[in-house]
Amino acid sequence: MKGTKKVLAAVLEHRGKIVPRTFPYPENVPDNAAVVKMKMCGICGTDHHLVKNWSLIPTPVILGHECLGEIYEIGENASKNLEARGEVLLEGDRVTWYAGFSCGKCWYCRNIPSNHMGSLCINNKGYGQNISCKDPPHLFGGYSEYVYILPETWVYKIPEGLPDKVAVLTDVFAVSSGIRKAMMPFPALKEGFGPSDIVAIQGSGSIGLAAGIVAKLCGAYKVFLIGGEKQRIKMAEELGIFDLIIDIGDIDKSIDRIKMIKQATPGGVGPDMIVEAAGVPEAVPEGIEMLRRGGTYVELGNFIPTGTIEISPFRHLCFKDIILIGQFAIPPQTFDVALKMLEMALDRGIPLEKMVSTKYSINNVADAFKKENKYKGVKSVVIP
Ligand SMILES: [Zn+2]
Ligand SMILES: [Zn+2]
Repeated sequence: MKGTKKVLAAVLEHRGKIVPRTFPYPENVPDNAAVVKMKMCGICGTDHHLVKNWSLIPTPVILGHECLGEIYEIGENASKNLEARGEVLLEGDRVTWYAGFSCGKCWYCRNIPSNHMGSLCINNKGYGQNISCKDPPHLFGGYSEYVYILPETWVYKIPEGLPDKVAVLTDVFAVSSGIRKAMMPFPALKEGFGPSDIVAIQGSGSIGLAAGIVAKLCGAYKVFLIGGEKQRIKMAEELGIFDLIIDIGDIDKSIDRIKMIKQATPGGVGPDMIVEAAGVPEAVPEGIEMLRRGGTYVELGNFIPTGTIEISPFRHLCFKDIILIGQFAIPPQTFDVALKMLEMALDRGIPLEKMVSTKYSINNVADAFKKENKYKGVKSVVIP
């Protein structure tokens, strides 16, 4: 019990407005739970979507699901059992955690083995998304000084070598590590993503940049990027892993981009795999046009309703003979993969810490969601 202090948090209210509010620090933390003192929380495209569509979630809500903090108070049982990789957690340990909880009761939870822990669960709940702060212990989102950690949470201790500005990217890398889903059915026969493949990423936001890094770490021969916004293109250059970068601000015609990407591959056939991380419907037919026949197309970007687009089932799917992969939520185990990918990237000297470009305080969180700030930089974070 850490006294009667107040906790400052940014709350998304019924009116769709974000305001700073104070809450009481949790009165007692049970044996199997914990409280984390936040160090940093990423701002995600999903958060922008939730602010705009606040009526879809049980407001008031404290947003923020890309959390990095340190254990501030922890029950004896939780200390031994909360960490997903079996490590003991003590006060002061840096941690991140998977935001979601599955219901264990819906058809998907009960019938699909690959849904173990719920990426397909239709009743999924998540920190910083759809758990209201109305009732005690209130603190279920990362734009806060403290977060209450429920016993069923997948908590991961941060390896010592990862600086805060890198560890805060765990969730982003977990999403991007979804391209591992493309490592089937037979990469050895050039069906599905495998070593020595040429990969193109559409989108220069944090997910796109991370997908490029993950592709390289997984053995891609060359990785191309099609993106926009000067600051993001500059970041992509600084990461030093992209073999070709196309700025859509300079090459503004789809047909020219398709030509450039195809020309950059042997035989001019197009990349073996394309990852869509732009979150723009128009990127999908453009990407499939670029892809070689028999290639793999991974759709990560249109994670929220963004509109529709025409596809030619003949030209884009049948004739092209593509493998088309979609990804919505990710399973918690991807956090283990992501933490390892972050370590591998640092070992290779990839300057990941530069991806955190903008900082906001809890009192200024509302500013981060002003329209003109949405596409600035690569990864914005909230630091209490
Ligand atoms: Zn996110
Ligand atoms: Zn379920």
